[in-house]
Amino acid sequence: MNNSPQDMTAIVKMAIGSDSISVISWPRPVPKADQVIVEVHGTGVCGTDLHIAHDAYPNIPPVVMGHEVAGKVVEIGKEVDPKWMGLRVACETHHQVCKCDFCRDGRRNLCKNKTSMGSFVDGGFADYVAVAEELLHIIPDLITDHEAALTEPLACVCHILLDPPLINVADTVLVTGPGPIGLLAAQVARTKEDNVAVCGLEKDRMRIGIAQELGFVTTHSPEPESFDVVIECSGSESGISTGLKSARRGARYIAVGIVGHDVNFSADTILYKELLVSSGFAATPQSWNRALRLLENSQISLSPLISRVEPLKNWPSVYKDLISTDVLKIVFDPRI
Ligand SMILES: [Zn+2]
Repeated sequence: MNNSPQDMTAIVKMAIGSDSISVISWPRPVPKADQVIVEVHGTGVCGTDLHIAHDAYPNIPPVVMGHEVAGKVVEIGKEVDPKWMGLRVACETHHQVCKCDFCRDGRRNLCKNKTSMGSFVDGGFADYVAVAEELLHIIPDLITDHEAALTEPLACVCHILLDPPLINVADTVLVTGPGPIGLLAAQVARTKEDNVAVCGLEKDRMRIGIAQELGFVTTHSPEPESFDVVIECSGSESGISTGLKSARRGARYIAVGIVGHDVNFSADTILYKELLVSSGFAATPQSWNRALRLLENSQISLSPLISRVEPLKNWPSVYKDLISTDVLKIVFDPRI
């Protein structure tokens, strides 16, 4: 690819419809007054990217994909504090400028005008990305550039499990779905309570192996009615069904995985068992701070979750692998 000096390489969703994603030359962003330019060092590939590819998640093409971004500030807009220049940062995703009640309350994730990077505005599957100063967080020194790309999904998990706190001392906890989000959720749950089991299917063998390496009890068929907290991370009909069956009467059932389409499940189980259903969507500034404190305290292990680091040009093979269960997290590093 022959980029002009003002261009860079990017993975772009060009139009609505599957098969409309290309690795192409794209204009290098110029910072607005309140923005910085981040030289991307790591952007995680997420299940949501697969939903965006299939239009099962809202998006406005053409748009550079990628929302789990970490890198280094290399340029700043004229209103930005110069202290950011050269710092390693991870980036919140909500770009809307809005004064609605949710945004004023710090719950920008619930804003009706929410415009996230990677789906509504250009994201981090590129050499550079423009990000508002208020969305930046400094990466702790002990976290690598590639691990830092997982701060965003970790912040989402912290938001869902800890704001408000849903796990109590001596709870038995089941995580259904041993993907990257499931293994982050299991680790966040373990910061509150040791008794955390991870459930997967036969085809999840590799992922279950990593869960065991991380020290979790694993199972293919959890005991019915035996968990105080179920954290559903598979985003699948079978995971939801297993979770509802495994929950004790009076348990908390937490929906984390995005399914992407309507599914059948026994809604009456919620009623008969008096389940408290909870969920959360994306992250808040508060949950970002929690995630960064957990990383600073070495309470979350990220490197076992990174299966591969890839150059942007390998998008076609990464996209194919995204639907397999033989990988966990794939991170793009545009520098390689
Ligand atoms: Zn708003």
